[in-house]
Amino acid sequence: MEKNFDHVLPFQLEESAIRGRLVRLDQEMWKIIEQHNYPTVVNNYLAQATALSIALVNCFKFDGLFTLQISGSGPLRLLVVDIHNQHEVRACARFDEEKIKGLTSEAAKNIQQVFGQGTMVFTIDPEAGEDRYQGVVELSGTTLSESTHHFFRQSEQLETGVVLANGTSVDTLAAAALMIQRLPVPQNITPEDRETLDDQWIHALSITGSATRQELLDRNLSNEDLLYRLFWEGGVRVYGSKFIIAQCRCSTEKIKDMLTNFSSQDRHEMVFEDKITVTCEFCGIGYKFSEDELEGKPA
Ligand SMILES: [Zn+2]
Repeated sequence: MEKNFDHVLPFQLEESAIRGRLVRLDQEMWKIIEQHNYPTVVNNYLAQATALSIALVNCFKFDGLFTLQISGSGPLRLLVVDIHNQHEVRACARFDEEKIKGLTSEAAKNIQQVFGQGTMVFTIDPEAGEDRYQGVVELSGTTLSESTHHFFRQSEQLETGVVLANGTSVDTLAAAALMIQRLPVPQNITPEDRETLDDQWIHALSITGSATRQELLDRNLSNEDLLYRLFWEGGVRVYGSKFIIAQCRCSTEKIKDMLTNFSSQDRHEMVFEDKITVTCEFCGIGYKFSEDELEGKPA
């Protein structure tokens, strides 16, 4: 069976009002990690946040930009994942190298020690039509999953359960997100039916929570086999998967546009060895310009 990693796979649990998304990232996530030269702790959060973002963006039908931004006052100050048109992903981070090194392995697993007091912000910016949506939540619990649960509870979105995992060497997949969501309960059902739905949801949550890091990141286990292994009891139906690609959207034109908005004076101060050099924080590509190139009109 084709493995379909670097895809998001939507699924539905049979005979229950629960849908889900499975994201397992391999080459494309390793590519993003390799573009940067971040410490392992930063890579761990970068990989989990990327898998989470892909699972989330797939729940919304829109073309445009999705951004997940986690920021705080701790060693890892900022983490940004952005996804364009549901499939082009890029991610980067800003951190204090010394403070990251100073984290114990226990502290490194605690989101509030890594980011300090912080917030998680989700933004959906559709290209046309609908309004921009922004959701903000304070980091809580110890993991990114717990903060995500907190977000869904407080934002009156669908009840959601999510587990995240990331690999630390290319022997395994780079990252995984398994997310389930409970569809709204119909108004006019009997108390018995409501209880059945509640039980199904609690059961599905406990199964989701039982997914191990090892199986989530096992390259020899296909997405479908993993889902059947977990949810075999009630049955699971999978839908068409969608591919994900690590791709930055920076270009000479965009960087040039940004620089031409600076004053000549500011640009002059950026000159080093006759050139203004800008390095894209997402992909690491460097762009070089002469001062003349950036003047509104040639001198
Ligand atoms: Zn770039």
